[in-house]
Amino acid sequence: MVIVMICDLCPRKCNAVRTEHSGDGFCKMGTLPVVARVAPHYGEETCISGTRGSGTVFFSGCTMKCKYCQNHEISLTGKGVTLTPKELAKGYKMLEEAGVHNINLVTADHFVEAVAESLDIYRPRIPVVYNCSGYTSPKTLSILDGLVDVYLPDFKYADDALAKKLSSAPNYVETATAAIQEMIFQVGKPRYDDEGMMKKGVIVRHLILPSHTKNSIAVLERLARYFKNDVLVSLMCQYVPCGEAKKDPKLNRKITRREYEKVERVLFSLGLDGFTQELSSATEEYIPEWDFAGN
Ligand code: SF4
Repeated sequence: MVIVMICDLCPRKCNAVRTEHSGDGFCKMGTLPVVARVAPHYGEETCISGTRGSGTVFFSGCTMKCKYCQNHEISLTGKGVTLTPKELAKGYKMLEEAGVHNINLVTADHFVEAVAESLDIYRPRIPVVYNCSGYTSPKTLSILDGLVDVYLPDFKYADDALAKKLSSAPNYVETATAAIQEMIFQVGKPRYDDEGMMKKGVIVRHLILPSHTKNSIAVLERLARYFKNDVLVSLMCQYVPCGEAKKDPKLNRKITRREYEKVERVLFSLGLDGFTQELSSATEEYIPEWDFAGN
């Protein structure tokens, strides 16, 4: 485990000094993982959650700063319990013994080295899912090569100016495209086990934002152009106004049925394979409760 590092792990390349418990980079996190929840989760795509749940580990802090972050309570504050790679590995084992379908690492980019070490200590017999924002560098993803089975990245924007405005994420479009290319290179096309659970592959998620259907359509067009037969696309409508978004008149509402159907029609017309959601999923009940327990 790296004790002190000059960090260039994510595309921000802050070159910030990070020690085990503190960091002065954009993400403000130290190198030891901080975790807000370790528990089965049932709100993922059916081939990930199944009947027994996905074994989620929610990491605190983030390399993006989305105004509307649905998990803002942990992404912005960095609140949680600090774990060593060995303790993290114990968490995977505990989830596996509880019978979940997979181990699902949520927003771990800024802790990727400790995560790789934890998977070297204990490699679960069930698939490892890496759930991230898509704002990741291929070089950092290469640390996970051979350790991750299923990638679950977001593709939030097809417009760099919008990515900068809403998520403080410069050069998002090319960065996320290159990251997904690397993910496909590592795990290949979607494959399933006998129960229909995903055992290898990439699912790209896109959350539709209110008043931003043009962006959503451009995202789908880009996914079709670059990755059509290699990934599944999960179109999400579960947006609820959170955090700073409540102060923005364009973002301070749920999406309408009309907005959702407009984007969904494009998904179908482009022949993209994947998942859609019921509009009724736009409720705060889908946001996990943070127990900050780490086990
Ligand atoms: S992981 Fe954090 S400190 Fe490292 S480059 Fe990214 S934002 Fe900066």
